[in-house]
Amino acid sequence: MLKARKAVLEMKEYHPPLSGREGLRLDFNENTVGCSPRVLAKLRSITADQLARYPEREPGERTIAAFLGVSAAQVLLTNGVDEAIHLLCECYLQDDDEVIIPTPTFSMYEIYAQQTGAKVITVQAADDLRFPVAGVLSAINARTKVIAIASPNNPTGAATSEEELVQVLKAAPHAAVLVDEAYFEFYGRTLVPLISRYANLFIARTFSKAFGLAGFRLGALVGSSDNLRMVRKVSSPYSVNGIALACLGEALADEAYLHDYSAQVREGRERLEKVLEGKGITYWKSEANFILLRLGEARIQFVESMKKRGILVRDRNGDPGCGGCVRITIGTREQMDQLLKACSEVLDGSKGQSHR
Ligand code: PMP
Repeated sequence: MLKARKAVLEMKEYHPPLSGREGLRLDFNENTVGCSPRVLAKLRSITADQLARYPEREPGERTIAAFLGVSAAQVLLTNGVDEAIHLLCECYLQDDDEVIIPTPTFSMYEIYAQQTGAKVITVQAADDLRFPVAGVLSAINARTKVIAIASPNNPTGAATSEEELVQVLKAAPHAAVLVDEAYFEFYGRTLVPLISRYANLFIARTFSKAFGLAGFRLGALVGSSDNLRMVRKVSSPYSVNGIALACLGEALADEAYLHDYSAQVREGRERLEKVLEGKGITYWKSEANFILLRLGEARIQFVESMKKRGILVRDRNGDPGCGGCVRITIGTREQMDQLLKACSEVLDGSKGQSHR
């Protein structure tokens, strides 16, 4: 076996439980109904000629830029937010640099940061799992080169206020501050208008969640045109596949689909919150398409019992500060009927308080 780089040898392996996911999949925060029919129609019209060509990213970047109200030079299309994170790390990190990651959060920030050999500084949230603004501000120093913040966050669902994000942007003008808005459509607030004001701000968006296109691997990184010129240097011109690019316009154009789906998710979120409150189960107020709840040891049996009823939910016990927690993705009205019925059968006796 060849000897990998030191940074790679030191990395943990990450294997999300993606196999055998049969039934109602409320375990990966995906869209639970599938994409807009307009995207499917476009997919069916793809020709052999389109498949034979290398993908051309720029027209898609112009489309997204118009949708977001920024210029095309301020947008880089990526192979999901995952690639956007990877590219930011490639562009800005090397040995001895520091990356600040408030935890608990999405695993890929740490993984891509570790690959570069940079030092990962995690800042743990308090029990309320809100964004630890004071801890992040005091961790910033001259070596800080990237700060990764998901808002709304995963697995907590908590959003960080614009005021707190601006505090971080101002305190670290020498660092790339990534605000990952993967769950924007379930929340509705964005920092995109601040792109021209803060040169160190990057925003990530994805088609994997509300748009129902996780299999496409399509995301966008938004930032100042000068910074994105550097990020483009480390990106492959071919990383976003041509089929996803061909369908992007239809995905963005079907506003009714997106509106209906996100409205159902918001409604389902409230329904689940009410049930959890009624049962006295600890949960965290979410602005995303999932809810994190604490069941303690009972979670193991809960996950199993839900699985027996054909519903997959995710054990998040291993996330820092999330001992005993389970994360449940929110689905449509009918799917929530199914979930809530199963929850009522399974959840009896777990006690706690809600964090509002
Ligand atoms: N960011 C966050 C905060 C996420 O929770 C996820 C998915 N779990 C992603 C990014 C991944 O997005 P993509 O599929 O676009 O790579």
